[in-house]
Amino acid sequence: MERHQITGHTELIGLMAYPIRHSQSPATHNAAYEKLGLDIVNLAFEVDAPELEDAIRGMRALKLKGANISMPNKTIVHKYLDEISPAAKLCGAVNTVVNKDGYLTGHITDGIGYIQSLKDNQIDPSGRKVTIAGSGGAATAVQIQAALDGVAELSIFARDDAFKENAVKTVEKINSNTSCRAAFYPLEDLDRLKAEMDSSYLFTNATGVGMKPLEGQTYIPDSSFFRSDLIVTDVIYSPHMTRMLQMAKEAGCKIMNGQGMMLFQAIAAIELMLGQRVDSDYMKEKLGIRYEY
Ligand code: NAD
Repeated sequence: MERHQITGHTELIGLMAYPIRHSQSPATHNAAYEKLGLDIVNLAFEVDAPELEDAIRGMRALKLKGANISMPNKTIVHKYLDEISPAAKLCGAVNTVVNKDGYLTGHITDGIGYIQSLKDNQIDPSGRKVTIAGSGGAATAVQIQAALDGVAELSIFARDDAFKENAVKTVEKINSNTSCRAAFYPLEDLDRLKAEMDSSYLFTNATGVGMKPLEGQTYIPDSSFFRSDLIVTDVIYSPHMTRMLQMAKEAGCKIMNGQGMMLFQAIAAIELMLGQRVDSDYMKEKLGIRYEY
C-alpha cells in the first residue's frame, strides 16, 4: 500500500464508531483526498457511545476539519454539536460533522447518497410515487431525503418489530414538514404491498433482508410483484445481487444495489467538509463499482 507522505501540514479527519475495524470508509475517503490532491488523512477511531462526548471535545481542540460518524454514535452525536441540518433533524441521525472554526454542524448524507446514486443511473423519482420497505437507519434517511427532494407520494412498509414506530414517525414528519404525501402500511399486508408497488415508479428495499444473516431471503413472495417497468433498488451492497434484485431482474425490471448509495454518501460528506467534489467515475473505478451485475 502506497502511503501518504505525512508532514507537519497534514490534516486529520476521523471516523468515530464501534466496532469499526472492518469499515471500508477510511479507504474510500483517503482515495478521494488523494484524487483531490488534499494533504489530509482519514483514520478510523474506535469510539463507543460513552466516549463520544470526549471525542467530539477532542475534535474541537485538535481542530479536525470534520468527522464521519457511524453506529452507535449516529443517533446521539447531535447532543454535542452546535447545529443540525434540517435532514439530520428529521432523520434523528448524523453521519457527518463539519468543523468550521470550532462551530460543529451535523449532517446526514445517507439519503443524499441514495438519491444521487439514482440520478447516476438516470433514475429520477421527483414528482412520482415511490414505495420503500424499512424502518431502520438506512430506510429513514432514504425516506426523508426522497420526500425533501420532491417525491410526490411515498408508501412506507415495515414489519411489526422494535423499529416500526420509527416508520410511523417518519410518515408523520414527512407529512408535516414536506410537500410529499406519505402513508404507512404493515409489511405483513402483502396484498397492499403488491398494490402499492403496482402503482409506483420505484420500489426500494431498505431493510436488512437479503444481507447476512438473511442473505438469500426476501419478503416478496413471487415475481408477479415486479411489473417490468418498475424500477427496483436495494440499499444492500453486500451481496451485490440480493435475492430480491435477482427476482426483479428476471422480471425485466431495471435494478440498482446499494453500492452507489455507499459511494455517493461519502462524496457528499467530503463535499460538505472540504468544499470539493471528487469525480464519481474515478471513485467507481477505484472501488470496483459497476452497475452491470
Ligand atoms: P437497522 O438495524 O437500523 O434496521 C433494520 C431494518 O430491517 C428494520 O427496518 C427492520 O424492521 C428490518 N428487518 C430486519 N429483519 C427483517 C425481516 N426479517 N423482515 C422484514 N424486515 C426486517 O439497519 P440499517 O442500518 O437501516 O441497515 C439496513 C440495511 O441497509 C442493511 O442491509 C445495511 O447494510 C444497508 N445499508 C446500506 C447503506 C448504503 O450506503 N448502501 C447504508 C446503511 C445501511
